Amino acid sequence: MLKFEYMEKYGYEQLIYLYDRNSGLKGFICIHNTTLGPALGGTRVWEYENEEEAVLDVMRLARGMTKKAACAGLNLGGGKAVIIGNSKALRKDTVKREAFWRAFGRYVDSLGGRFITAEDVGTSPLDMNLVKMETDHVMGLPTTSGDPSPFTAHGVLKGIKACVKEEIGTSKLEGIKVAISGVGHVGAVLADLLHEEGAILYISDIDEEALKEVSEKTGATIVDKDIIHTLDVDVYAPCALGATLNDKTIPYIKAKIIAGSANNQLEDTNKHGLMLHELGIVYAPDYVINAGGLINVYQEKIGYNKEASMHAIDLIYDRIREIIRESKDSNTPSYLVAERMAERRIEMMSKISSIHIATK
Ligand code: NAD
Repeated sequence: MLKFEYMEKYGYEQLIYLYDRNSGLKGFICIHNTTLGPALGGTRVWEYENEEEAVLDVMRLARGMTKKAACAGLNLGGGKAVIIGNSKALRKDTVKREAFWRAFGRYVDSLGGRFITAEDVGTSPLDMNLVKMETDHVMGLPTTSGDPSPFTAHGVLKGIKACVKEEIGTSKLEGIKVAISGVGHVGAVLADLLHEEGAILYISDIDEEALKEVSEKTGATIVDKDIIHTLDVDVYAPCALGATLNDKTIPYIKAKIIAGSANNQLEDTNKHGLMLHELGIVYAPDYVINAGGLINVYQEKIGYNKEASMHAIDLIYDRIREIIRESKDSNTPSYLVAERMAERRIEMMSKISSIHIATK
């Protein structure tokens, strides 16, 4: 990958290499766009095969955060950090762990607030507490807005309701069949919420214990993970991995609606987004429906208030309905409607920045 070429193509601002010989820290921070505000994105620890794979991931994820914040109406830009390593191995030596995360915190601090980070795959609240020792530009700590997953699940529920209203014409979820792939932090809470609303659930996971627990609590039917997307249900909710909507799965999907929390659900955004549209399947764009966690963390920036946060997350319902309607009215795939929504807001807001506010 020619990095400057890639940066030019997608409008990136900054890519930072992180290296600390002492603690073994190796990673990247990518700032995609700060038109709307500081770039907020979690820090991911992953055993990447090589440097190239990590760079591509951090850049792709940072761009996704720009779109997510823009569509959610937040004054935030998009960024992300990825660290090459094994999260379990990193936790073994407590002294090294402290040095590792404090070194990372110093890098974050050196950006002077252009980048704000939080927990993500492979990082824990304790890691972020260590980062906090070096910088104030870290959010989502246990003592602040906390675990984002229940908020993400609440937003996904609202998104599902919006899709059901538009596609099936009912405001109630009673008797609506939903297949959830992945009952982890988000999927398990989503199952609870759907169960409370009277939905009929089918669940799959690779974790037998998680399946048993959710099934006992909600009466969900356990299904093999390789066939969950083929079920004759109303809603298919991918809540595990990314890229599960692809050439191999889409032809077998019978659900009228796809609405779940997983990031980057479309393996090839343009190709598979169009494929779903042509098949008449309503697809709730992932970064719009799964923005609840980000919306909640953002409240820290303006003074955390759980009630205000839940109210802001409820608006996912209106946003998803607007996207579906626009998609139908203009015969445009929903992923493209959402992208245009994000781009339009960024463009409009970049223009008001020419109005200078007088300061002393
Ligand atoms: P998690 O790791 O807690 O849960 C994922 C679950 O998927 C696990 O139970 C895992 O065993 C299961 N799984 C893995 N491979 C599977 C497979 N092949 N088939 C079925 N299940 C499988 O993660 P999470 O925090 O619940 O997040 C779920 C998804 O939502 C991820 O894609 C994440 O990026 C996205 N997301 C999460 C949040 C959040 O607030 N946690 C916010 C936005 C997006």
